[in-house]
Amino acid sequence: MNTDVFAAYESNVRRYGRSFPTVFKKALGATIWDEAGKPYIDFLVGSGALNYGHNNPNIIAPAIEYLVGENILLSLDMYTVAKREFIEVFVDSILKPRGLSYKIQFPGPTGTNANEAALALARKYTGRSSVMAFTNAFHGMSLGSLAVSGSASTRELGGVARHDVIRVPYDGYPTQAFDSASYIDYVLSDPGSGIEKPAAIILETIQAEGGLNTASAAWLTEIQRICRKHDVVLIVDDIQAGAGRTGEFFSFEFAKIAPDIVCLSKSLSGSGSPFSIVLIRPDLDIWNPGEHSGTFRGNNLAFVTAGAMCKMWSDRQFTAGVERTADKLQRHLDSLVAKFPKCIEQKRGRGLMAGLKCRSQAVVGRVHDVAFENGLLIESSGPNRDVIKVLPPITITDEELDHGIAILDHALKEQANGN
Ligand SMILES: *Cc1c(COP(=O)(O)O)cnc(C)c1O
Repeated sequence: MNTDVFAAYESNVRRYGRSFPTVFKKALGATIWDEAGKPYIDFLVGSGALNYGHNNPNIIAPAIEYLVGENILLSLDMYTVAKREFIEVFVDSILKPRGLSYKIQFPGPTGTNANEAALALARKYTGRSSVMAFTNAFHGMSLGSLAVSGSASTRELGGVARHDVIRVPYDGYPTQAFDSASYIDYVLSDPGSGIEKPAAIILETIQAEGGLNTASAAWLTEIQRICRKHDVVLIVDDIQAGAGRTGEFFSFEFAKIAPDIVCLSKSLSGSGSPFSIVLIRPDLDIWNPGEHSGTFRGNNLAFVTAGAMCKMWSDRQFTAGVERTADKLQRHLDSLVAKFPKCIEQKRGRGLMAGLKCRSQAVVGRVHDVAFENGLLIESSGPNRDVIKVLPPITITDEELDHGIAILDHALKEQANGN
């Protein structure tokens, strides 16, 4: 496999290319092939950006039709037919059936663009500068987003001051015995706490990069109550956990909350094409025209593919299939936990956003390498990189899922026997 050009010319910053040292060429569904024709099952899925699999025909067919028709591709934030159709289908297939009402902001195409817009709006709306963010959070690599992220290495990257962030413990941090929601309520109520009232609380319902830590429905409900009580904007960063990853469209549906602002990106286009939106409680939408902008707010090909993805959520057969796949994945992981106690400490995550907390980073590293050799792509997460992320496409077939799990089982068995 010729990787010379990457070593010679691509920046030292490259990572996944090093951990999967081959050259990929083709992909369909949950399978990705390298140049030599070797297939791999993809449990990495673009870090949650390919929830609907590679080249999902329901999503790609309308894109191909759109591309050959001399249709608009880039439109800033002008009105286009593709954008009108996306808004209509998003409202009808996603928001209305869930009883949600939001205005939609189209920021730049990345997840961090959406978070920056959300933070800026919350600060403008409340006139306050600080934001509460959680231990082990990850919100992106631009300055405002990395300021609210938890990881020391991420935060240091900016190389400049990261003010105006109040770090608070996530659900279950440092242990399940600590009631972090009560703590937050208490410090916001106590004039002697030394903690000023923030503009917003920003959270992930499952901390993907933070190690698949999950927030309970009770905790999320309590955080929403606290935000309302103290007049603080609740921002849910649903960039990785949303767009179907947990088995529901939004990751917070199970808790029956309605955040003030929701950020979506990653799998939102359904195709891997960059696209993000910020959902804003209507009375909070106090932007002045043109006050926030970005060149790539009008990626019309993404409007088309995202619309096709949203339509799938109106199909009962599709949603039932996703639920069934989520159950099947959870059962597979339960059996791996039971089988390999020497390697695995516990199952993490929820629905199809799952992981295995292992005994050490070394175990995860070796499982990753053996899995890759045998045709499975997985990645690690968590502050100590000792959690195996298991993120198959939510549309994965039973055969592909079973095959991927069998490769993982084999890699874990080698470690368990070697220990
Ligand atoms: C990936 C991710 C982001 C950042 O998205 P980018 O497109 O990489 O800017 C923000 N928040 C969460 C939870 C993410 O997983």
